[in-house]
Amino acid sequence: MAKCLVTGGAGFIGSHLISRLLCDDHSVVAFDHAPLDKLNNLFNLNSSSFKYVRGSVSDSSLFRDLINDADHIYLLAATLGVRRVIEKPIATANIQVDQVREICATVCAHQKIFYASTSEVYGKSNASPLTEDLPLVLGEPGKARWAYACSKLLSEYLLLSLYRDKNIPLVVGRFFNVVGPRQNQAYGAVVPNLLSQAIKGIPLTVFGDGTQTRSFCHVSDAVDAMLSLMNNDSCNGGVYNIGNDEEISIGDLADKIRNLFNPILEIKMIPYEDVMPLGFEEILHRVPSLNKIKRYTGWSSKIKLDEALIDCFMTLKNTSI
Ligand code: UDP
Repeated sequence: MAKCLVTGGAGFIGSHLISRLLCDDHSVVAFDHAPLDKLNNLFNLNSSSFKYVRGSVSDSSLFRDLINDADHIYLLAATLGVRRVIEKPIATANIQVDQVREICATVCAHQKIFYASTSEVYGKSNASPLTEDLPLVLGEPGKARWAYACSKLLSEYLLLSLYRDKNIPLVVGRFFNVVGPRQNQAYGAVVPNLLSQAIKGIPLTVFGDGTQTRSFCHVSDAVDAMLSLMNNDSCNGGVYNIGNDEEISIGDLADKIRNLFNPILEIKMIPYEDVMPLGFEEILHRVPSLNKIKRYTGWSSKIKLDEALIDCFMTLKNTSI
């Protein structure tokens, strides 16, 4: 069984990944900057195979010790939420650059790495669905939203060079809008936002005209995808989309949530300039092609949007009582 290190382990996807790794009899070190009294996501992990280390990926000596001690390394540490990225572009970039720099300096060929990249790297591409081999077009540097995509993309380039030059086994997964229980609403993501509005009985907020589209992947599907990539050596050195290809406009998503959970709710359209800081730019459409990951691993997403929304709603409701 492997010794696993998960950076960003106290976060939403990290905590689901860790539960699964422990179930599969691996030992896990979660490395995260979250203080001990904010570890709500890890509340049930009192296993002797689990350890929490509080710290930053910028703390070279601590991070290098943890890297040296691990067989499998999952790099999930990141700044979350479009608004926080715009407000903290330097910290956003530093987390990616620091963690990948330490990996490049420290890791050996007997270890294996999963890097959590993002569908944000597809930026302004008009293609649909988005395939991993597309040329990428990001927005202008004056718009801070792109700091996230840019730093994730730089990390992809560095890690893929590490694979080519030093034969380090690694895979890159580009996540598309992952949702599920314990997703923190404070980061402003649309699903937890609308669901918590539905629970409170207040209007559902749709930004812009609501025609922008996304597709939402349940976190348990996302964790399955990560593990299938890590457990399959033919995937090494590749970039793979992880998501669900059930595309929906945000206006229709709000409608769906209203119909499923609270039919008397109002839907309120809000212009971007009233809710987003300067430096915001909308991504109009984003749906993944999942052919590549399916071809390499056989994985495909199983959980439909309605089912994912009901799961998120029930957990949120139980925790807000
Ligand atoms: N959005 C919305 N209402 C909200 C939160 C977000 O209409 O309360 C929109 C947002 O403008 C975007 C989409 O929902 O078009 C997805 O936003 P999110 O921040 O979840 O993810 P991302 O933009 O990174 O895909």
